[in-house]
Amino acid sequence: MSSGFRSDLKIIVIGTSGTGKTSFVNKWTKNIFSDTYKATIVSEFGFKIFEQDGKLYRIQLWDLAGQDKNAMVTKIFAKDAHGCVVMADATNAQTREDTLRWKGSVDEVATFLDGGKLPCLLVENKADLLEDPSAEKCPELEEFGNGNGFCGSFRTSAKTGLNINESMEYLIKNIIQRMEAMQSKGNEVFNTNRKSVTLDAEKHTEIAAQKRKNKDGCC
Ligand code: GDP
Ligand code: MG
Repeated sequence: MSSGFRSDLKIIVIGTSGTGKTSFVNKWTKNIFSDTYKATIVSEFGFKIFEQDGKLYRIQLWDLAGQDKNAMVTKIFAKDAHGCVVMADATNAQTREDTLRWKGSVDEVATFLDGGKLPCLLVENKADLLEDPSAEKCPELEEFGNGNGFCGSFRTSAKTGLNINESMEYLIKNIIQRMEAMQSKGNEVFNTNRKSVTLDAEKHTEIAAQKRKNKDGCC
């Protein structure tokens, strides 16, 4: 395996409040889950190292607040993102409809490095609460995702871990594939923005910690 990172990749997680964005990020990055709900105030992020073909990628998974008033936050964070998870709640049909608005706000401001749309993965979480266990596969969801420009769709459970790794792996591979295609045309796309993105992330964690302190018990 080669040493060092090939690239930092920034992925944002957006969607209606309560769908499980924070839980998804915590499950994927730390393998933890909590039943207690605490609304995310602005944003937090988790890191994870991903390996493909002997190359290492540092994935920053940004968990953004889901309140409508924070749609502006989404737009700011989407600008230099490499990809996006748009989350719905499998037990709440309205949240699937909501994903179109969330994806729309990303498409409005962000493009991928190749000038195309940002890879957006549709994730319907809380699949463990569905009565029919076979509902983990959902042709309707797939159709909805394909028909609305998502790069793929999964049903997940941050509680049981169902499809958490699979969905992230799918999205990351999609991102890397598009970057490889650019690289093969002579564009230097890997590790061009690592430093600034990382510094941003560190600064943001500090700010989020401060906010938590100030609003004790609220977030
Ligand atoms: P966010 O507002 O989108 O960040 O949602 P949270 O991650 O804070 O989750 C909201 C609530 O749903 C919390 O009480 C979580 O414990 C719960 N939750 C999140 N994911 C799942 C899941 O996959 N299954 C179940 N049963 N509950 C979940
Ligand atoms: Mg949250």
